[in-house]
Formats: sequence, structure tokens, C-alpha cells
Amino acid sequence: MNYADFYQRSIATPEQFWQDESALIHWNTPCTQVLDHSNPPFAKWFVGGTTNLCYNAVDRWAASQGDKAALIAISTETNTERSYSFTELQREVERCAAVMQSLGVGRGDRVLIYMPMIAEAAFAMLACARIGAIHSVVFGGFAANSLASRIDDAKPVLIVSADGGSRNGKAIPYKHLLDEAINLSSAKPAKVLLVDRKLAAMELVAGRDVDYAELRAAHMDAQVPVTWMESNEPSYILYTSGTTGKPKGVQRDVGGYAVALASSMKYNFCGNAGETFFATSDIGWVVGHSYIVYGPLIAGMATIMYEGMPICPDPGIWWSIVEKYKVTRMFSAPTAIRVLRKQPPEYMRKYNLTSLRALYLAGEPLDETTSQWIYDELHVPIIDNYWQTETGWPILSIAKGIEDLPTRLGSPGVPMYGYKVKLLNESTGEECGANEKGVVVIEGPLPPGCMQTVYGDDQRFVDTYWSTFTDRQVYSTFDWGLRDADGYYFILGRTDDVINVAGHRLGTREIEESITSHPNVSEVAVVGVEDKLKGQVAVAFVIAKNAAEVSSDEQRAAQEKEIFAVVDRQLGAVARPARVFFVPQLPKTRSGKLLRRSIQAICEGRSPGDLTAIEDPASLQQIQNAVQNGLKN
Ligand code: ATP
Ligand code: MG
Repeated sequence: MNYADFYQRSIATPEQFWQDESALIHWNTPCTQVLDHSNPPFAKWFVGGTTNLCYNAVDRWAASQGDKAALIAISTETNTERSYSFTELQREVERCAAVMQSLGVGRGDRVLIYMPMIAEAAFAMLACARIGAIHSVVFGGFAANSLASRIDDAKPVLIVSADGGSRNGKAIPYKHLLDEAINLSSAKPAKVLLVDRKLAAMELVAGRDVDYAELRAAHMDAQVPVTWMESNEPSYILYTSGTTGKPKGVQRDVGGYAVALASSMKYNFCGNAGETFFATSDIGWVVGHSYIVYGPLIAGMATIMYEGMPICPDPGIWWSIVEKYKVTRMFSAPTAIRVLRKQPPEYMRKYNLTSLRALYLAGEPLDETTSQWIYDELHVPIIDNYWQTETGWPILSIAKGIEDLPTRLGSPGVPMYGYKVKLLNESTGEECGANEKGVVVIEGPLPPGCMQTVYGDDQRFVDTYWSTFTDRQVYSTFDWGLRDADGYYFILGRTDDVINVAGHRLGTREIEESITSHPNVSEVAVVGVEDKLKGQVAVAFVIAKNAAEVSSDEQRAAQEKEIFAVVDRQLGAVARPARVFFVPQLPKTRSGKLLRRSIQAICEGRSPGDLTAIEDPASLQQIQNAVQNGLKN
């Protein structure tokens, strides 16, 4: 099929288009109206239809292919590996649902899931979906105050958690964080359900805390019927990563989400029932919701849930999983691939990877160097896809399941069906021409699967996302990009990160992309720093591929010069950073996104801001040191 026609149909006749797509899932009762957009920007999909995410992910396949693998939980932290067939998964989910019901959880109640990457976390999500409870998964190991603010916002009746997670072989106890968070919060849950992995000490609070294994044992034969949900009832709340500020509670529906996932599994991820999907993300992030738990299962695929590092016990671990489970489609993040690129290549060459058909990468800009490197290793299409927690599935990509359009290095691709993507000039609001930079926006209605609202705050949804331009109501992604003459988009950074150097608007991404092409650059962050003369100047922080080459002041100065020359040649002297500093690591969120705003704050002598989402606080000190030492030279 021709993708341009497919896309055009989704935009010209969205109701017919999505009505057709809705046949990919099971409906208990069909909808009476495909789209209700009478109160923009709110969009209701499949109004009046009833369905259930758990039924579509589990029961449907338990009935037709019950013995096939559904969930494969692998932990290189605890050296455990367990595969559940669809039938077994359904039984576990029903047990978990019965346990939740015994604790008073019902339709519309919120359940906060603060869990490591273990099978029980998926059981809990699916159990919520089954009984119509609204889950809110919070990344395991988040600090007490981040957890407390999410408890306050979601007001859960139940929290599901565990004694701890594990990272790099070291146990990370959760219970004291959880207790502290509940103490801090003003919306204390009545019950806390705990999975004891025997990793860390765990004292149960009498009357509140209950042990999962004990309650499960009392519900071994439980049969919990599916609660049929009206398509627009909420299925879950998920807070954004918090890269740019206070996380927003993204609320998602049931029916629209199920349909969007089913169609993206077909057209984007080309997954077939019986095959294995491996997304290396975490259930705490949107990729984990859409493409570890719900998406692959809705498509009847086995899904791998991996707890562990990408390089432990050795850098071949992911590829050994691909070989062993004949993974056909793999989903990861550019950050992870950059980590692997620093390892000796023998590890990935040891395995038979012939089952793998494509690698999908999302979450951060995919630079050309990284994309080319992994392509040269794998020889399968490397498919960048651009989206947000808010949208739940890709906005820009290449839907190889429709047409085998070529990918273009540095570009996530073209607008996905259903998304009316536009680029608008930030100051005039006019549509940008080819190769002209602007804000990436989406004209309403947002397609199925996207956020319904900000949980509990419709006004914040309108004010945050739909009010960037005064003369037209469009959804702003807050990303900055351009489209080339062939319609391929390029994401140039977040709108907050745009640098204004002597009147020239530059996306941090453009400069980063150019710097990464230097052979000794493994990773780079570029930020705009206030400058009396030019307004702003770009400053670059580089992780060297070979640190030995930048161990002396002379070496650093020489490589800085080389990097200047690269940028001058590729982008022109206006884009040349004022300084290049070499650092051992860069500050990132727990989801692997660069915290450019914190780096910028340090450079400008301000406080780095809210750091609850940061992965390693020591990285900020390293930035500070690099700047101080660098300025002495
Ligand atoms: P917050 O909104 O709380 O600041 P966040 O935006 O980091 O957090 P996510 O929803 O996880 O939270 O991330 C979405 C953002 O990640 C996008 O808006 C974009 O900036 C970036 N992104 C995701 N995928 C890509 C990609 N393929 N290429 C470039 N950037 C991407
Ligand atoms: Mg965001």
C-alpha cells in the first residue's frame, strides 16, 4: 500500500479510518459514535463502545493460543527467568485482581504501582485494567518526595510495591522510601500490597500492609470476570518524565488506547501473534506501558520484561536474549545504544541474531553516528520514532507495515496516520515552509491513544498544551523541528532549549549532531548560556569515547579546536560553541534523557532546579568541576 494515501485517508476521513482500525480489537458492545469532538480540544473516541484492555491483551489470546508464551520475565539481577503462557498469565492476573478486590479496589479507584521490573508488576497493571481500576505506575526507586507528590495527585486507594529492586547486583530497598513517601503525603492509601523478593528488609505496618504471596495463596482458583469499560473511561495515569519541570499526570482512555496500540503493533512494529517482542524500557515509562505490557500482548506476541543492565553480566546480554527467544522486533533508546557502542563489539557478534527484523529507537534524538553504528552491526532497519508520554504511540516514524519507505539518517520520519502534524513559526504562528524551523504541533482532534486530559485538571490540559498560539488552538509538543523538501521531519531540541546566538535561532540538537560526528565523541550535551555580547552562546559538554585522549589540558584544548572546526564546517561559525568541556558523564533523568536545563543553570551560576528525576546527582558536580577547571585555562 502507498503510505501517502493511507495517511491522507486518516486525516480526511478520520471517523471511517478509525472505525476500520477498531476492528483490530474485541468490543463487548460496539460504539454509537466514532468521534465526539464537540468540546475541543477534548476528543472522545468510540463513544458508547465497551471493551477491556486486559481482555484484549490476555483472555482473547488465552482462548486461541493459551499455550504460547505471553510474558517472559528475565532478571540478570537475581538470575531468574520465568516464562508465562497466555493461560498462565490470565490465571495470575485473575489472582491478582481477586487480591485487589479483597482489599476494596473497585472500578475507577486508583492503584499506584511502585515496582521493579518483575512479572508481578505486569500482573498488577493488567489486574487493574481487568477490574476497571486506574493504575498509576511510578518508576521503582524514585525518591520519597517524587513518589509522595504522585501519591498526592493520584490519591490511590491501594499501593502495590515490593521489598526492593536491584541495580548492578546491588539491592535497592523500596520499603523505607515508600513509608517515607506515605508519611509525607496527604492522601494516604488504605492498603499497601507488598511482594517480598527477599532482597531487602521489610517491616509490615499493621492494618495497612499486606503480603502478596499470602493473599495470592488464598485466591489460587479465583475467577474474576472482566469489567466492560466504556471506551472513554480512564485506564491509567502516567506522569511525564519531568525533564522540563513538574511532571504532568497524563490520563489515558481504554478503547482509543487499545485501538491505537493494535494498529501501531501492526503498521509500525509489524508484530505477529506468536512472535517475541523485546522493549528494553521500564514499566515506569510510557514505552513500558505501550510496548512492554499492552501493545505486544494485544498483538498476541510474547513480551520480554528485563530487569538488569544492558552490559551485565556482559555487553552481550540483550543479544543473548534475542537469540534465545528469537526476538523479531526490539525497542530501545539511543542512550542505551551509545552505551553499547563504547563496549567491545565481539559481544554482540557472538550471537545468532537472524530472527531480528528491526530495531526501534525512541526517547531522545537519534544521532547519525549512533544510528549508522548499530545498523552496521545488525544490518536490519533502525527505525527512529518520535513521541511523548502524552501521545502514547509514535507521532513521527516510518510505518514499514504500510509501505517500505526508506528511513533517513537523523530524521524520525514522517507524520504517523491520525496525526495532523504541522510546523509553526514560533513568533508569527504561520506554517513553516520546507527546511524552515518551527514548533512541532498537532492539530486536533488528537488521534485515539493520546492523552484525554491532565488527571483531575482539565484546565491545565488546555492551558499547558493548547494555548501556545493565540489565534489557533493546536497541541504543542514543545519540540522544535523542521521538515525537508520530501516531508521528512527533524527534531532539533525542545523549545526551551533553542539558543539565540546574535539573532540566529539554533536548536541544541543541530549542534550536538554535528559534534557527535567527531570520532572521539561518544555523547554530547549542548546548552545555551547567557552572554553579554551575543545574548546567548552555545556551550558543549562531551563524553569522550576514549578518555585517555583527553587526559591533559593540551589534549583537551586540541580536541576542542577539532570540534570547533567540525561545527564550523558543518553549520557555520555562528553555531560554534564558545567552549567544549570534557566530562565523565552527563546528567540524565531516570529515563535516560539529558537534563539540559540543569546543565544550563550550573553554567549560569543558578541552582540546578528540581532534581527528583535525576539518575546520578554526582554528574552535576562533574559539570561544575569541568566548568571551573576549564575557565582557569
Ligand atoms: P516532561 O514533559 O515532564 O519535561 P519529557 O518530555 O522528557 O518530560 P517524555 O514524554 O518521556 O517526557 O519525553 C518526550 C520527549 O522526548 C519529546 O517531547 C522529545 O523532546 C523527546 N523525544 C522522544 N522521542 C524522540 C525522538 N525519536 N527524537 C527526538 N526527540 C525525542
Ligand atoms: Mg514532555
